[in-house]
Amino acid sequence: MNVDLVVVGSGFFGLTVAERCAAELGLRVLVLDRRDHIGGNAYSEDEPETGIEIHRYGAHLFHTSNERVWEYAGRFTRFTGYQHRVYSTFKGRVYPLPINLGTICEYFGRAFTPDEARALIAEQAAEISAGHEPRNLEEKAVSLIGRPLYEAFIRGYTAKQWQTDPLDLPAEIITRLPVRYTFDNRYFGDTYEGLPADGYTAWLERMADHRNIEVRLDTDFFDLRGDLAGNVPVVYTGPLDRYFGFAEGELGWRTLDFEMEVKPTGDFQGTPVMNYADEDVPYTRIHEFRHFHPERRHYPDDRTVIMREFSRSAERGDEPYYPINTAADRARLLRYREMARREDGVLFGGRLGTYQYLDMHMAIASALGMVDNRLRPHFTRGERLISGGVDR
Ligand code: FAD
Ligand code: UDP
Repeated sequence: MNVDLVVVGSGFFGLTVAERCAAELGLRVLVLDRRDHIGGNAYSEDEPETGIEIHRYGAHLFHTSNERVWEYAGRFTRFTGYQHRVYSTFKGRVYPLPINLGTICEYFGRAFTPDEARALIAEQAAEISAGHEPRNLEEKAVSLIGRPLYEAFIRGYTAKQWQTDPLDLPAEIITRLPVRYTFDNRYFGDTYEGLPADGYTAWLERMADHRNIEVRLDTDFFDLRGDLAGNVPVVYTGPLDRYFGFAEGELGWRTLDFEMEVKPTGDFQGTPVMNYADEDVPYTRIHEFRHFHPERRHYPDDRTVIMREFSRSAERGDEPYYPINTAADRARLLRYREMARREDGVLFGGRLGTYQYLDMHMAIASALGMVDNRLRPHFTRGERLISGGVDR
């Protein structure tokens, strides 16, 4: 095969590696993907009846504080000024998220100053005594927002999302959710945020559009592995456990089921994402895609596309979305990493290849790091191509 590098997977990680190696190092790169489209989970397409852009693998919002990633992304797409905001429905009423002064005033039914709200929440969080390290998600959440808000907005949603009692989930999951004593309800606190003006797929296609890059879709690496083995360096962004034939057992993932529907109205919920906190509502949230692009004038005003999201643990054959990361998973991961380290000529990257949740900007940053630290030294100075630990 007449190529210098094979990249397995055409998600943001794989395409960043391919683009840099082709454009900067002048390498001929073959990108393989077993799906029938490029882009990995960030892929988007127009819903045929309405022309509304939908994200097939769940809504993707781009945000970053990394200057290098922002500059790099800007070479392939323009961004809109979209700012993500989320609301939550609980017992028939709507509240702003993440939990902020607006949520607190609304929930307790009166006006609070920031100081009054702090004092109230401190009192309601007092059952987790200061200095005591929260041992699980419930303790962590109660220590941050007090029990009443935890029981309303977190307990039911989290139980639906993880199908696990919050007492058995790690505290870290919840630290991603900020708590604010202002009325600021922006979901992300990053310096840069926006959506690709002409969609994710256009952005991803521009990354792959280079004469040194060949993309082969509907192609599973494991069907070609015999022809490639040892002959050409590989960057592998597929599942780590599958690469090693599940020798150490399977790493646990959570998957999502999406139910899409075209509704005969111009506006179903008035906002892009509505969370459902009640445990007896089976889905966790509803996305309404038209609201991600209020600037698009061509969307119909009498129809809209919504997508309900349901969460469950993945079985073999399901799309792996979020690493579950139990203690057993972590032990297995360490053994796989050790095996990866001994795999000469193969680098492991991306969210599947490292068994890590990575936002898009993190996948891009990590891929740029792999090019700088491993691929350029190999191709320009002949340094050995070994993982030296899985690239992150
Ligand atoms: P992927 O996009 O998963 O790409 C891996 C590719 O490898 C896939 O195309 C797959 O088909 C291919 N592959 C696997 N095995 C093989 C094989 N054997 N042979 C050939 N090809 C193979 N990030 C954000 O920044 N903002 C968000 O709002 C956001 N929302 C998300 C919502 C959901 C539901 C999920 C799951 C993720 C979300 N992300 C979000 C994260 C984002 O999807 C990832 O950062 C991004 O997909 C990482 O890219 P990747 O290249 O590592 O992996
Ligand atoms: N969460 C919650 N209620 C909400 C939103 C989030 O309890 O309305 C919790 C839930 O445990 C979730 C975590 O906060 O797993 C992180 O939320 P985020 O929105 O980042 O979840 P993701 O985007 O990963 O689905």
